[in-house]
Amino acid sequence: MTDTRYLVHGVFWDGPPPVPGPGSEQSDGGQPVLRLQDPSGTFTALALDAGTRLGFRLAAAGKSCLGHHLVHGPAERDHILCPARAAAVKGSQCGRCFVLDDSRLIHDFHRGGRVPPGLRAYLMQQHWLYVATFANGASKVGTASHLRKWNRLAEQGAVVARYVARAEDGRVVRILEDLVTRDAGLPQQVRSAAKAAALVAPAAAVELEALNNRLAAETRLLLTGAGIDGFEVVDETWVRPVLSDAACAPAARHAYPHELSADAHGFRIDSLSGSIAVAALDGSELEFVVNLGQLKARVIELGDHGSDVPAVQESLF
Ligand SMILES: [Zn+2]
Repeated sequence: MTDTRYLVHGVFWDGPPPVPGPGSEQSDGGQPVLRLQDPSGTFTALALDAGTRLGFRLAAAGKSCLGHHLVHGPAERDHILCPARAAAVKGSQCGRCFVLDDSRLIHDFHRGGRVPPGLRAYLMQQHWLYVATFANGASKVGTASHLRKWNRLAEQGAVVARYVARAEDGRVVRILEDLVTRDAGLPQQVRSAAKAAALVAPAAAVELEALNNRLAAETRLLLTGAGIDGFEVVDETWVRPVLSDAACAPAARHAYPHELSADAHGFRIDSLSGSIAVAALDGSELEFVVNLGQLKARVIELGDHGSDVPAVQESLF
């Protein structure tokens, strides 16, 4: 039992991609963590493996600012913590940190927006365009920097995804992304709540695979005729981390019945897709879908807590 108050930065998949097969190179992929900041500003990474018991209590109302990032190059960035630990007013940032954050400028770069030299070096690295499909078939187009090519999709919680283009830099890839949204109708965002709702009853793997394959093929065809320089069309499947497999498989589950913004919670994580866990509550054989992304920017104390099991009408399924 500890009463350290941690600020939750979120679920991160920073590990190496999966390497299937035998041998020392073999890897399940990812090794996701819940990243926590203690009051002195030190970070703790709580490993989220199958079987991890997570118990916590919300220790403050509302959300607190997670600070901002300064980008110095493709792999170099500083995370500047919020000096005031102010209340978050723009997503998970205070107004000051929002304005200072380099990543705010990324989305205007391909429309001619000015960026500082470090962010420019980051954006000038190779980027990948992908088509990702989620558990209910909702699909999106998106971009990943070369160094985060695999990790980006792990954090998105894709069920199936394919890379469709390799672009010479982050400007070209966003031009392609906008083109795909405009001409193929693929959105650039699927909301976290929709992903969680989809994991309550995932569609059959074969359907999602066929859908993603078709959307990726249509996107490649569109890109081929686009008349844009600085990229090549690719056909490469993203490899899903093993820890996500069970979450993505069809099952009858329940949405987690409690709000993560208050009170105490505790459960056992059995599988994790992006920031969304399939978890078991003490005293119940049922599977619950818990969106751990809702803990981002909240203050918690870890402890030996358990969530109440709701009265579920088994007859509903
Ligand atoms: Zn701040």
